[in-house]
Amino acid sequence: MTGGAGGSHRLFPDARVLRPTTKRLPQHTRSHNRALVLQTLYSSGTQSRADIARTTGLTRAAISDLVAELMVEGLLVETGPREEARPGKPATLIELDRNAFQIVGVDLSDAATFRGALLDLDGTIVDREDVALDGGTGPRALDTLLQLCERLVARASAPLLGIGVGSPGIVDSQGTVETAPNLGWTDLPLRTLLAERFDVPVIVSNDADAALLAEFSFGDTDNDMMLVKVGRGVGASLLLGGAPLVGTMNAAGEIGHVVAGSRGARCVCGKRGCLETWVAVPRLTAAFDDNGLDWRTPDGLAAGRPLLAEAGRRLGLVLAPVVAALNLTDVIVSGPERLLDGPFIDAAVDTVQQRTMRTYTGDLTMRLTTLGDDIVTRGAAMTVVSRVLGFS
Ligand SMILES: [Zn+2]
Repeated sequence: MTGGAGGSHRLFPDARVLRPTTKRLPQHTRSHNRALVLQTLYSSGTQSRADIARTTGLTRAAISDLVAELMVEGLLVETGPREEARPGKPATLIELDRNAFQIVGVDLSDAATFRGALLDLDGTIVDREDVALDGGTGPRALDTLLQLCERLVARASAPLLGIGVGSPGIVDSQGTVETAPNLGWTDLPLRTLLAERFDVPVIVSNDADAALLAEFSFGDTDNDMMLVKVGRGVGASLLLGGAPLVGTMNAAGEIGHVVAGSRGARCVCGKRGCLETWVAVPRLTAAFDDNGLDWRTPDGLAAGRPLLAEAGRRLGLVLAPVVAALNLTDVIVSGPERLLDGPFIDAAVDTVQQRTMRTYTGDLTMRLTTLGDDIVTRGAAMTVVSRVLGFS
């Protein structure tokens, strides 16, 4: 992509950007070109103006113009001349200034805690704060979120690019939480509320969708994958051919309320035996409690292996037709490692393979994300980077 003996280092070595999903109109050409320049520097690191022109296919004059504009905004910086063996005047290198802005990322998916952080443009966490929910739902949970954002915004040490929130439940394209039963929220215009309060761009997305973006940006995954998020509830998100699947009613991946055995417990949705009632973290820990086992101790965890395998089997029952229909080979699981890594995931894979054609699902890999507990926070921040810088 770049020439020159000095080469180029990649500022964001692991970051990828999603394929744009919207059509562009002629009047958007300038913002499209701007996004192309940012995207090129975001994924390729340091480049000269000539490099950027070659990569994007735009003219040198257009690139000089756009680079000047982006430097005034503080997004790009010149890093000096390229060291090269060739004779002649060396080209001046340019890169995205990762410290130019910060982003507030918030993860609302945990049963007991809202997790917040301040992040660099490349998704690195520079400061964090968690706040206990103390069982609060509805307006109380909203108030807890607003206070958390207030404190994080106040602590930012660079201009704020925006606020990204990963919420459980169904979130529409305008950032309204249509329904999040576990938080007691219905038709909550969360994006509008936060944008009016803090006067910065705000992106609210489903927690599993945010996690998927983080996994795609920083993890080691293919262009086709499913991410299953196990927390207070159970949700999933799908990436097909490098594009995220939204669904007609914004509810693609909502597998939590698929019945996985009608003998199961009553669910918050009113049905009996939903996947959540078998697999959600509070249900898993309650199953340990009911059997007099402590999942926090090695002995308790070992004795509870059959409970975890049974929960994994229920997940497998629900995933089998999805994996078969979409010919998926890559399923990432996000949630507490202690509970999910081992018998839970093993039983889920076994169940999918038993119930499908092994020819197509024999290579199925299901594994825990390497991004740990920060996956939704980092993904939520990346939704802001993508949207505000024009990547999607
Ligand atoms: Zn349900």
